[in-house]
Amino acid sequence: MKRVGVLSLQGDFAAHGAALERAGAEAVFVRDREQLAGLDGLVIPGGESTTMLKLLRYDGMLEALREFGRRKPVFGTCAGAILMAGRVLNPEQDSLGLMDIEVERNAYGRQLDSRVAALHPEPEFQERAGAGSLEAVFIRAPKIRRVGKGARVLARYGGDPVLVEQGPHLVATFHPELTADPRVHGLFMEKL
Ligand code: GLN
Repeated sequence: MKRVGVLSLQGDFAAHGAALERAGAEAVFVRDREQLAGLDGLVIPGGESTTMLKLLRYDGMLEALREFGRRKPVFGTCAGAILMAGRVLNPEQDSLGLMDIEVERNAYGRQLDSRVAALHPEPEFQERAGAGSLEAVFIRAPKIRRVGKGARVLARYGGDPVLVEQGPHLVATFHPELTADPRVHGLFMEKL
């Protein structure tokens, strides 16, 4: 059985743990560097990226995650996607730089900050993960403003990329851990 870490400093790590177990992995709640050893992959959950960054600066955890991402697959959702980006706007902030994407925080504005949408993922997603529309929960979501050449868009919402992969890594600006549909976590499991 694959052992997948869930960064558990802040945010909705518990829901990711449950989603990973539904997808057939053993979930390990990671709070320090030592717990990264022996994991097959890592999930960075949603929450508040600024708070997570602050907590990651203790104890060399930020650098430990960068190093982990050079060796193993990492899946970031919402705040996790912000942390994975190469560049963050609104405002600019530090990140892991694991993916060649540019992300703008809180880009849907205040009135429309949370919603549930039915996505129609790209044919490639449907071939690999299973057919049909995908229910996506957005909560104060970022927008992916630029996707580098090496990255691939697997789903869009209103024309904007919301599910993107690059090599072993995956980001979603929505929260697949909050619905019963296991396909996005299943897609990540295929990378391990
Ligand atoms: N708005 C949060 C941030 O900027 C992300 C929201 C979320 O993870 N649901 O970090």
